Amino acid sequence: MNDEMNQLIDLQKIDTELAGFDREISEQEQEIDKRRQSIDEKKEAIAHCQDRIKELQEKKRAIEIENEDAGARIKDRQNKMMQVQTSREHQALLKEIEENKRIVKESEEQLLATLEAMEQTENEARELENLLSAEEKLLDEETVTVSKKIKKIQNRRKTVAKKRDSLAADLKAPLLKRYNMLLTKRDGLAVVKTVDGVCQGCYMSMPPQQYNEVRKGDKLQICPTCQRLLYYQEEEEE
Ligand SMILES: [Zn+2]
Repeated sequence: MNDEMNQLIDLQKIDTELAGFDREISEQEQEIDKRRQSIDEKKEAIAHCQDRIKELQEKKRAIEIENEDAGARIKDRQNKMMQVQTSREHQALLKEIEENKRIVKESEEQLLATLEAMEQTENEARELENLLSAEEKLLDEETVTVSKKIKKIQNRRKTVAKKRDSLAADLKAPLLKRYNMLLTKRDGLAVVKTVDGVCQGCYMSMPPQQYNEVRKGDKLQICPTCQRLLYYQEEEEE
């Protein structure tokens, strides 16, 4: 195999390693993001509870007013009872008193149900707040641990990245440019093995003539389907 090809193979190995570091870092960051998201969801749920409590307080106030008004009307009609002359007027007042008594009774029931709903929502909010503060504490701890881990990965990455720089500097500029472009466009894989005439990057077959050329390894060969740089390696060499 020619030297250029060997250099490219080494470069690909290093870039795969670097991509692995990047993946590790992003996995760590995702863990933190997940925790943050859960915290945001809790905060949203708490805000929702607080809105509900406010609504219930307004409802409670409205019911109390309705109750007081009905109570006042009952007193008012009871007072009027002393002054009425006819039994028709008397009947009308009685009817009104009955009606307002019904309102008082109903509003009292509504008031109880509203108070119950308020208590339930307040409990729910309290539970969420407990969970939230536990999760926030955990996030703080995890953030410290994760940033330490990331720093370690970054240090290992730096060493490998230096190796990459010196290796890349040895390559001819046009070839390096082509390699870098392939690396970006082909998901981090620019140099691939061939097995039985099949490119291990896109898993498409190449013409037998080309496969022979790849096996000879005299000249750079490009996959006709994915344009990756191809090489051949005896199985036992691995
Ligand atoms: Zn291919």
